[in-house]
Amino acid sequence: MNLSQLRTILEKEPGYRLGQVKKALFQDLIHSWEEAVALPLNLRDELNKGCPIDPLGKTFVSKEGDTIKALITLEDGLKIETVLMRHQDKRNTVCVSSQVGCPLGCSFCATGKIGFERNLEAGEIVGQVLFFARFLKKIKGKVTNVVFMGMGEPFLNYENVIKAIIILNDKEGFGLGSRHFSISTVGILDGIEKLAKEKLQINLAISLHAPDDELRSQLIPINKEYSLKEILDIVDGYIEKTRRRVMFEYIMIRGVNDSEEHARTLAELMRKPLYFVNLISCNPIGIFKPSLAPRMERFKEILEGNGVVVTQRYRLGQDIEGACGQLAVKNSSTSIHG
Ligand code: SF4
Repeated sequence: MNLSQLRTILEKEPGYRLGQVKKALFQDLIHSWEEAVALPLNLRDELNKGCPIDPLGKTFVSKEGDTIKALITLEDGLKIETVLMRHQDKRNTVCVSSQVGCPLGCSFCATGKIGFERNLEAGEIVGQVLFFARFLKKIKGKVTNVVFMGMGEPFLNYENVIKAIIILNDKEGFGLGSRHFSISTVGILDGIEKLAKEKLQINLAISLHAPDDELRSQLIPINKEYSLKEILDIVDGYIEKTRRRVMFEYIMIRGVNDSEEHARTLAELMRKPLYFVNLISCNPIGIFKPSLAPRMERFKEILEGNGVVVTQRYRLGQDIEGACGQLAVKNSSTSIHG
């Protein structure tokens, strides 16, 4: 959705139109401006031409039906992926992309393999959430959480990411509480610092994936610029300021980062109040394979035995490559941000 175009069209309208537009877009979840019956016909026509709502999206549903992936074509023809994860406890989490491609080139990531095209506009981020909100409305469901873990590094597109969150958080519009948003970063320091100063109580996650700089720099090349120590110092500053918990994501890759020694080194770093570790089974990509279940169990046991709070997540929707963007790659675009 093109927000600047929407703003231009509404500029010449009376002030109360904004409220009508917000209700139609974010609460009634219209697919097309024709459905916005509170608006005059000529305005609906103008909006349909200048600011169409429903992006071209092709959906893929996993065998279990718990993951739905959308391949969305943007106005300029580039493609992004957005994933809806339907949890058993009735939460519906939309995993959004913040960039087309990604410049950071992490070795385990499909998005990283294809390079960087451009940042997404705030309206394109909002559009991904609305896409699945409309989808869920048909089955009487609602979006309950939004995570920035799709294509791209969100803190390299900070302004648009925060702008999108503010729009989706607006009580007169979509009204999703700020605690229901999570941003996952590989550790862009100034992004973490800026987030600490925001009034919004957004969750922060760090894609860690290795317990030492040597291995982390192999997996996440930007680690050569922002070392683990620098990242953890900034995270500690963030916690001091916000008193919020921080999640450290750790993708478990067979034979790469899943030894007992890795677990013990990680435990040393993670034994802090308000830190917790989320172990994630790696999505198979190239030479990387997921750790075997007993290895993951042992890894978890060592962390917990050392006083670290641990959660575990299995990849959803592997049959539709719902967690890593390989589909978009096949369709000449992109994604994952572990
Ligand atoms: Fe970019 Fe995240 Fe993929 Fe790294 S893991 S290349 S930061 S999208």
